[in-house]
Amino acid sequence: MKQRERCRNSAPSTAQKDLDRGSVKSDGHQRRKLLYSSHGTRQTDLYSWLSVAAFSLFTFLIYSLGYWGWAHEPSIVKATSPNGEFSAERAFSTVQVLADEIGFRIVGTKGLETAQEYILQQLELLSKEAKRRGFSLEVEVQKVSGNYDVKLPALGEVTISTSYTNIKNIVARLSGPACQRWVDSHYCSLTDNNFRAENVNCTQPLSLLVNSHVDSAVGSPGASDAAAPCGVILELMNNLIHMHPSHLRRPIVFLLNGAEETLLDGAHAFLMKHRWSRNIGALVNLESSGSGGLELLFRCGPRNAWLAKAYAKSAKYPHASAVAQDIFERELVPAETDFRVFWELGGIPGMDLANYVNGQTYHTSRDALDRVTPGFLQHMGSNALEIIKELVGPHDALGKSKTSDSYLRNKRAMYYDFLGLTTFFYLYDYAKIFHYSLSIVALFYIVFILPRRGCSVRLVLKAFCSLLLGLVASVCAAILVGLFLHFIWKKPLMWYSEKSLVFPLFCASAAFVCLTSFELFLSHCHQWNIAPIHYKANRWYWLIPKLNDFASFTAEMILGSFILFQTTVLLVTTYFELGFSFMPFWNLTFAVVVGWMGLDEESSWLLRCCLLVIPCGIFSFPNSLIGLSAFMPIMGRSGPWLLTDVIIGAMSSSFFILVSLPVLVFLTKHRKACQMFRLVMLVTFLLGIVKVALMPHPYSGDSAPKRIVIQHLVTCDSKDKSSGIFMSAVDIRDLKIEKNLLHRVLSSVDIPPLASHFHWGLLESGPWENLQPISWFFSGYEIMRPVASHNIPCPQLEIVRKEPLANGMGKMVELLASFPSSHWGSLRLNASLLSWSLSDVVPKPFSDGTRFLRHIGSYQESSFRIVLNISTDEPFAVDMTSTYFGASPETLDIIQRLPEWTDAVTFQTSGTSFLID
Ligand SMILES: [Zn+2]
Repeated sequence: MKQRERCRNSAPSTAQKDLDRGSVKSDGHQRRKLLYSSHGTRQTDLYSWLSVAAFSLFTFLIYSLGYWGWAHEPSIVKATSPNGEFSAERAFSTVQVLADEIGFRIVGTKGLETAQEYILQQLELLSKEAKRRGFSLEVEVQKVSGNYDVKLPALGEVTISTSYTNIKNIVARLSGPACQRWVDSHYCSLTDNNFRAENVNCTQPLSLLVNSHVDSAVGSPGASDAAAPCGVILELMNNLIHMHPSHLRRPIVFLLNGAEETLLDGAHAFLMKHRWSRNIGALVNLESSGSGGLELLFRCGPRNAWLAKAYAKSAKYPHASAVAQDIFERELVPAETDFRVFWELGGIPGMDLANYVNGQTYHTSRDALDRVTPGFLQHMGSNALEIIKELVGPHDALGKSKTSDSYLRNKRAMYYDFLGLTTFFYLYDYAKIFHYSLSIVALFYIVFILPRRGCSVRLVLKAFCSLLLGLVASVCAAILVGLFLHFIWKKPLMWYSEKSLVFPLFCASAAFVCLTSFELFLSHCHQWNIAPIHYKANRWYWLIPKLNDFASFTAEMILGSFILFQTTVLLVTTYFELGFSFMPFWNLTFAVVVGWMGLDEESSWLLRCCLLVIPCGIFSFPNSLIGLSAFMPIMGRSGPWLLTDVIIGAMSSSFFILVSLPVLVFLTKHRKACQMFRLVMLVTFLLGIVKVALMPHPYSGDSAPKRIVIQHLVTCDSKDKSSGIFMSAVDIRDLKIEKNLLHRVLSSVDIPPLASHFHWGLLESGPWENLQPISWFFSGYEIMRPVASHNIPCPQLEIVRKEPLANGMGKMVELLASFPSSHWGSLRLNASLLSWSLSDVVPKPFSDGTRFLRHIGSYQESSFRIVLNISTDEPFAVDMTSTYFGASPETLDIIQRLPEWTDAVTFQTSGTSFLID
């Protein structure tokens, strides 16, 4: 009550004063309302509903336009079209061979060898054609061994050391007569990489790297990831050798690397060991983390704004978002691409391009040929071709980055597409100037203009706080729904295959709460602004729609709060240099223009709100779609601990409220429509709940299978031989939730014991020892024990050499580790290491003092040597595993009993322990 009085005192509005004086002249609208008869009210009602209809139609059209901008695909170029033009049909033939005829191409398997042979045959044909047309296309197979410590913060704070043996990369270099004057020198040191490319000691030309990978993830035929980009690259070579040779200003190195899925080893091997890697000036990385849809420029630079400029100038069908870069730079995505290796270890800037929709099938057996759309190939290829031409064609943007555009090298770029038609590009330095200037104009409007129209700063601040509280309340409501689904109803992830379910579950509930809290605020203000006593002077006072009266009075105030909100978001996001800031920038630009127009008439409210919808529909809406489409699939492989419903609830509700804020602003003036909208939201939410109640599980075998990992482990110690079959989900719905699934597999209703109790070896290894650094990911069950042994031989460890260290403090041990008949091996040891032969610095050990390393190799390459310098003479223990990607007869039987909505990856693993003294 106290507060109410204070508000009244502090807000002597013109309408209030007019009413106090008993005069209604100064505000035409007020007068109209007060003098209306019941007939007049009906007219107002009709007018009000017409404007609601007009607004709804306009909003629908703008959002549809935004959706079209996000989703429209280019038209497909036929295989019979000229070779200079990128044709999805021609690229598709390669994808078909790699993903369908060959299929699984996992590192260490015959499939990958076969795929590489096929690619080499194609390159040979292209090379002949290139020569005929005046180009040179040199093709090499890089067979390479090395060691790599990879740190992927997105997978947890772990360093994974890998030793790779004879993995194979296919490298092709295309150059034209304009590049021929460069002499291929083998003496460029790695420090000459990049920017000192054309110095006297290093006569290699600055060249462009186009990269993708031939290998597929375990258990996946990798049609989109990355047979499709490989098909695109072969077609790009075909297109480029059909342009005029003199137009190719710089060589292009095409890397079809043979080990990406094993944590980026192929890119590492090329960068560290291939002579053509020395003078790479930029990278174009083609990838996939979904199926179908469009390719997105999700990482560019970092800094090196000239790359974003080149994209903006050249991309034929732009699809880019600086917001995605924000997310990747903050390590929020548990995935990586070769881009990281080239930038972090080689200092090579680049563009990272990949599709992202329908990522539920990424890295599963359903990433098959039938899910590769021609639209995706055409989009990726057409854009890549133009980007490559811009970088190394007649414009030579790559060369200019060292000369006329060199000032852009250390600059951060703001870039985003406008309806997929063109790209907006400007330097972040300029963006800051625009953003801060606009914020000053907006604040000026609130502090100086609004009070003149009878709306004090205090009133605006009050409305702003209410708006903020409404937004917080609505996001909290969505989070509560998420917590309810997870903890109480025990039905998390129900929107996984039915993606549109996030709307009723999270967005509708959030909108309901937001409107309710906003209306509470309005009705509260209503009492202190226009006291009922003034109405009673008029005998028809009870017919007057009170909120409408108030709303016209507070129109400026509500718009003021909207402007203040957008200003706050703009200032915060600009301060933190987020790409996201372009969205509040556009929202605020339109809002300030609308505010300045100073509209008082009823009809202008409609116009105002329509103008506010435009930037939300064109910029914020497509970017929200990008965010949700990319993040929702990740929730199906984010381990057993992440509260997926809370994350997606908070994300979708805040996107929805931000995108539909102009709708809320509009509804404040149309109380009945507002109430109806609120009701619709409530009903939608309840329908969503009913839908969830009717669904047995959230998966779909075709488009969103449940990921399951099955490990058949046999340990080799003759005395204490143990074995077991372990099964785990990799999402929040662990197998206890999917009781039916477990019962089906086991033909029993007992819940089997959790796998974590199972230990073997001198280092007390668990069932997921071969995946040690990410074993927290697996909350598995032991579903069978004991089982017959499988066919994978035990790993072996041989001491090649052992001698005391020169200073007498410890010993040197050289070991030969072999993993016969397997695809990868692991080794964990508890020696106190001074150094080892794998890297200059020994990575930090795990909390138990042990260190882990993996081995990968090409087909039938399964051993490596390691030299350890140990500080003590004490014996140390080694636990080793050999893993084969495939099913044993026992696990095959389990797979056959799994329901069709699951997708299982199966390993056969042997484990052995050694004590080295
Ligand atoms: Zn990939």
